[in-house]
Amino acid sequence: MSSENILICTNCGETAKSERRRYRYLESGISNLYLQGTEVAECLRCGESHVIIPRIAKLHRAIALALANSPARLTGEQLRFLRKHLSMSGEQLGRYLHTDKTKISKWESGDDPIGPSTDRLIRLLVAALDGELRPGVTAIAEHLPQIRDESGKVWELQVDVATLQSTFVSVSRAA
Ligand SMILES: [Zn+2]
Repeated sequence: MSSENILICTNCGETAKSERRRYRYLESGISNLYLQGTEVAECLRCGESHVIIPRIAKLHRAIALALANSPARLTGEQLRFLRKHLSMSGEQLGRYLHTDKTKISKWESGDDPIGPSTDRLIRLLVAALDGELRPGVTAIAEHLPQIRDESGKVWELQVDVATLQSTFVSVSRAA
């Protein structure tokens, strides 16, 4: 399924044709996050590529909800995404988790692993503090016993930009 639109390149003014494709959403700060059906236009004259992401607030909420239901332990970059989604500083989040911003920063950078209890508390905080995710808090709580804490498995999060449906896919990393 492909729909095409004509866009004007903001760099050179040439027209650029867009197409929908899978887009690695590195701007989110999460390495293994892909947006399905993202409109991307590449300018044929200057090579500038334009990524069109509509309804970004809704998309970020869908990503936050997906992360709260992640099958695996939260990673540092996922924690950073969630903290930013809640518009909290490291210091503010530290107050909820009875720790300080240095510890939060170590979790986010991957210097320290996020403990299993902290991981679960963060998910509940996200659901409790984002008013629109609050109706999902029971489902998130019920998911907590199913989180698998083993390391070694790499998960990829895929979010469809049109439907905002999300899927975690286990990907094997070459040894
Ligand atoms: Zn151009």
